[in-house]
Amino acid sequence: MDMFNSELFKKAYFLENDLVNFKKDIEFFNNFNQYFRETKDLICLANSDGCFIKINEAFTKSLGYTEEELLSKKFINFIHPEDLEKTKKELDNNINKGENTINFSNRYIKKDGGIINLNWHAIINKDTQTIFGIARDVTIVELTKEKLISSQRLLNEAQKMAKIGSFEFDLHTQDIIWSEELYNIFEIDLKEKEHLYELYLNRISPEHLDILNHKLQEAITEKKPYEIEHTIILDNGSKKWILGYGEPVVNNNNEVIKIRGIAKDISAQKEFENTLKAKEYAEATSKAKTDFLANMSHEIRTPLNGIIGFTDLLIKTKLNKSQEVYMQNINQSANLLLEIINDILEFSKVESGKLELSFEPISLSDLTNQIISLFTIHASVKNIALKLEYDPNIPNIIEADALRLKQILVNLLNNALKFTSFGEVVLKVELINLNKNEFATIKFSVIDTGIGIKKENLAKIFNSFVQEDASTTKKFGGTGLGLAIVNKILFYCKSEINVNSVVGEGSNFNFTIIFKIPNKNILEANNLKIEEEKVSIKQNLKKVKILLVEDNTLNIILANKILKKIFPNSAILKAENGEIALKILDRNKVDIILLDIQMPVKNGYETAVEIRINEKTKEIPIIALTAGIMENEKQKCLAVGMNDYISKPYKLLELQNTINKYV
Ligand code: ADP
Repeated sequence: MDMFNSELFKKAYFLENDLVNFKKDIEFFNNFNQYFRETKDLICLANSDGCFIKINEAFTKSLGYTEEELLSKKFINFIHPEDLEKTKKELDNNINKGENTINFSNRYIKKDGGIINLNWHAIINKDTQTIFGIARDVTIVELTKEKLISSQRLLNEAQKMAKIGSFEFDLHTQDIIWSEELYNIFEIDLKEKEHLYELYLNRISPEHLDILNHKLQEAITEKKPYEIEHTIILDNGSKKWILGYGEPVVNNNNEVIKIRGIAKDISAQKEFENTLKAKEYAEATSKAKTDFLANMSHEIRTPLNGIIGFTDLLIKTKLNKSQEVYMQNINQSANLLLEIINDILEFSKVESGKLELSFEPISLSDLTNQIISLFTIHASVKNIALKLEYDPNIPNIIEADALRLKQILVNLLNNALKFTSFGEVVLKVELINLNKNEFATIKFSVIDTGIGIKKENLAKIFNSFVQEDASTTKKFGGTGLGLAIVNKILFYCKSEINVNSVVGEGSNFNFTIIFKIPNKNILEANNLKIEEEKVSIKQNLKKVKILLVEDNTLNIILANKILKKIFPNSAILKAENGEIALKILDRNKVDIILLDIQMPVKNGYETAVEIRINEKTKEIPIIALTAGIMENEKQKCLAVGMNDYISKPYKLLELQNTINKYV
């Protein structure tokens, strides 16, 4: 008999098997029961009405209710009202689809009113019409997620404000992650995630692409950060300046796997830098121009000094009539040239803001008559009537800077005559207001019947070196400096120029200045000064030994002549430069030194310093003779130990008075 086939064996076997299985079931059930009790997950069983029929401790603990309070209650009563619809839908959908297991999330309201986020895994048992659910409390995860989202939002806002975007570039996958602001900066659609790297490369200006690649390569091979300023070109063709900063990210094997960094829109800063550069450049050019003018004028002044001085002397010698006229002409021309040079110097001075007005009592009627007489010949040659219309009510004496006022009127009259070929030129001087005999408001107008100025050019003719149009220089010459000087000087007089002009009919340039009327005391003191100046040259018969240090031959001869006139008994020693002068001083005892400043080999400053440190020579008076025009030249001369200063071209009287002070 087959033992294994016997019914008894089968029964015994299955009994035993059932027993084993039963044991296993019990074991499983115990295990499950323990899990059911001890797990932190929330477990529940609900019937077809949705009422809890079994819940574990974690469930009651998490919601804060007792078991009694929950059992036989519907679970929908505890779901957050906002999630109710969603939960119902999830359940219905899955039931309709015939699915037994459902995963979904919703929020429950706890007994204390708090909210708990639950992540559900539920099984529907159609046979028993029950729902078995396990939920995990994900409140902390959700909170962290929210915090992450809000800090991401904050970061985006901050980046937006700072115009800084950040990126991470995976070298293997070529994937780029960009912050929102980086999309904004590069003006690329936020949705473009796929081809972002290509789009990015397309944006880079071709001239910067190689540098950028090079920097990236270097960062990867040398594992060091890089920084680059480059431009990008947007779809509309406009440019933006970007400051890029990146650093390599390495893995455990010290291989660079990513580049991470930031990019900042620095267009505004660049624009500012560029305007600053342009401004600095313009200022430097303007300074170079002013320096050039000052230097040129300086160079021209020295020979001019020779011409004026010699013609001065020649005029005083015996000449025949025509020689005298020629000589007068040369002298006048040279003086005119000197005035132009002075104008240029003036301009340099006015440009650099160094102009200082010096007011003294003057007769305005004398001054204007003098000015008109300067132009009478010029006007009659051109056959133009030149008139002065002077208001007789203007006080006799006013306080003014005669030189500047003359400069303004000469400039305006010069232009009026230049740009007029027929008709008349009028200088009109009117008293506008007299204030308690203290102030006189006077209006000056220079009116011509010349070519006139186009309305659109009226503003620009006041800029330095600018004329109405390019053809003006060709036709009329000029530098375009005159009106610029006029306006700058008027600015210092708290005034400005007005122009009325009609093309083909003429122009009217006018300005108004408020002058002070001087009181009597000032007037008397001034008259005394004028008398003093009229005193003629008095010869000094002292036997003085003068050392003249000067490199320009003409000036040497001229100074020699003048000195001989003032000091007929003087001995004049001459040195062409400072070094020769020191040698002469070594061997001779002199009473006074006249020292030129600009000289080859050893200049005046250096020479003066050496004279002052030598015991033998330190007491000898030194007078600087210079064509210098620089503002601080006088101070510089005194600072190196010189006693006085005379600027060329010097007047006989000035030289006499200065030397007499020291001998
Ligand atoms: P310049 O006379 O040396 O050229 P200005 O600064 O004095 O320089 O004048 C600038 C420009 O203004 C002149 O070149 C000329 O085009 C215009 N202008 C000045 N004064 C007159 C005037 N009275 N009539 C017509 N145009 C004038």
